Amino acid sequence: MKLSNLGEFGLIDLIAKRVAKLPSTFIGIGDDAAVLKAKGKYQLITTDTLIENVHFRLKTTSFFALGAKAMAANISDIAAMGGYPTHALVTIGLPKKITVGQVQQLYRGINSLARKHKIDIIGGDTIASPRAVMISITLLGEVEKGNLLLRSTARVGELICVTGKFGGPASQKYSLPLAAHRLRLSEARVLAKSHLATSMIDSSDGLVRSVLEICKASKVGARIYEDQVPIARGATLDQALYGGEEYELVLTAPKKHLGRLKIKHKVAGEIVAKKQGVKLVDAYGKIKSLKSGGYEHFK
Ligand code: ADP
Ligand code: MG
Repeated sequence: MKLSNLGEFGLIDLIAKRVAKLPSTFIGIGDDAAVLKAKGKYQLITTDTLIENVHFRLKTTSFFALGAKAMAANISDIAAMGGYPTHALVTIGLPKKITVGQVQQLYRGINSLARKHKIDIIGGDTIASPRAVMISITLLGEVEKGNLLLRSTARVGELICVTGKFGGPASQKYSLPLAAHRLRLSEARVLAKSHLATSMIDSSDGLVRSVLEICKASKVGARIYEDQVPIARGATLDQALYGGEEYELVLTAPKKHLGRLKIKHKVAGEIVAKKQGVKLVDAYGKIKSLKSGGYEHFK
């Protein structure tokens, strides 16, 4: 079977079936980061890779922005677990034509976020790549035992809340500079410490995909209210629903907690029973099927 038949998510499901579990593995494949049991806390680990001509084009992306974006994608995954980042391993694959100055710019981008969020770069790997520039970061983090937020703990009747606006990056033809990639680490920490949210994910693959992932992990369904989705200036509803590349938070919370959430958010939907599926509701109350679930590799 070809990869295009299975798609990225089908492939991960296939891989996930074959992974054994040690007693120290609390959460393996399936959330924004893996969760390992540690003394008095949980250890978080996540990894994300960017590759030229899939995630970015060198013509329109600076090396600084590339480094910062690779860090941002990983920090966002740690934030989505309610945790804070601590240590990073950075692997770079570079064609010979790349200059030392460009690599220094890449590291300036990486270090800008590392400094801001007090992350130590503790290692990595450097390899020659035949054509494409590649950067892969593995980020470690921590979260206090009671503050962990998972994808798998949403319950029927809860509301789906989101931070920020959606569709901005999708509405731009080319990669945005980092300024557009606002990270929600501090909001995520506020949510984690308050114990008012029940589940959380980041929106890196799009709002609809995030809701689908929460529903899959929590074994529930959802209604997304089209007229309540915050849409970025210049973006269409479709770009807001399916676009991705923004690092907003998508979380669920019981209705009675909403007034106390302490972060800026909008209600964009509701959790329903699994058998009702994941659907859109338009401004007239009409239930509509999803188009597709955001960006998927190999499809
Ligand atoms: P995110 O978009 O939050 O980074 P992904 O969609 O990339 O998450 O991955 C979903 C889950 O699948 C994560 O738990 C990730 O670690 C896991 N995963 C992805 N690719 C692989 C792989 N090749 N082998 C094992 N696990 C994988
Ligand atoms: Mg994620």
